[in-house]
Amino acid sequence: MPNSRLYVLAGPSGVGKGTVVNALRKMYPQVKVAVSATTRAPRPGERDGIDYYFLSEERFDKLLAADGFLEWAQVHGRARYGTLRSEVEEHSSRGEDVILEIDLAGARQIRRTHPDAHFIFLLPPSQQALEERLRGRGTEDDAEVARRLETAKIELAAAKEFEHQLINDHPEQAARELAALMGIA
Ligand code: 5GP
Repeated sequence: MPNSRLYVLAGPSGVGKGTVVNALRKMYPQVKVAVSATTRAPRPGERDGIDYYFLSEERFDKLLAADGFLEWAQVHGRARYGTLRSEVEEHSSRGEDVILEIDLAGARQIRRTHPDAHFIFLLPPSQQALEERLRGRGTEDDAEVARRLETAKIELAAAKEFEHQLINDHPEQAARELAALMGIA
């Protein structure tokens, strides 16, 4: 990957990774974010190829068998999510930096395969704020919120593994800090 840097943004579900990345893209349209593949169903308003590549279990299996993923994980014990090699290579071949917005298990895989990548962990201002955000989103039922909070506890305990930690108090502020880390601010 000549001159192309890989940034891994991890953090628990509900911490606002998507919101921060969207704020970053608004400020710096040149920022490239890899669109992940997932086997979960689209939420209302989500678009295939933009928010995710929504794949069937069979299609995901085929891509896995063909070594099509840079990393993948089963998140919250349910759906599978993964970073497509093709998605990252498209940008890196042009020398563009790419951000991966992925879970902890995925970040650990990237650390093994791409030790030169930059690892950033997004933290909520508090545990309570995280819970409120997960419930307030209204897209998951109570059982799913509980499952995500359990995963969040495990993920938060791993924040120290990351070279950078950002607190998402205000998405625009966190996006500016991320831009500064990436050297684009
Ligand atoms: P959601 O279902 O809310 O869109 O995403 C759930 C979690 O899946 C997010 O917290 C995110 O970290 C993780 N995720 C999204 N895309 C990927 C991916 O490509 N790889 C991995 N390992 N995790 C992902």
